[in-house]
Amino acid sequence: MADCNETLRELETFLDDELGDDTRASIQAHLGGCLDCLQAFDFHAELKIVVAQKCRNDEMPAGLLLKIEQCFGLDEPADDATDDQLDDQLDDGTADIMDGPA
Ligand SMILES: [Zn+2]
Repeated sequence: MADCNETLRELETFLDDELGDDTRASIQAHLGGCLDCLQAFDFHAELKIVVAQKCRNDEMPAGLLLKIEQCFGLDEPADDATDDQLDDQLDDGTADIMDGPA
């Protein structure tokens, strides 16, 4: 059976359905008994779906990558400056991204 390191290393390949039968069976066996790896796989599978949907028709919006980075990195909200910074970003044309080019 695959261990955690091997399982996580093969995560992307597994989700792309490009593993050989033996490796795939080994990964699936590990996922059946390891909640940590199973959650990691679930998260990445969901992320792939979201990104695929966003990218289906056009390029990934500049704001999406930022949001993903914020989900991973910025746990602490900024304090007093937040509103002013948001206003500045909107003034700089961030809002235009929502409309997008025709
Ligand atoms: Zn594991």
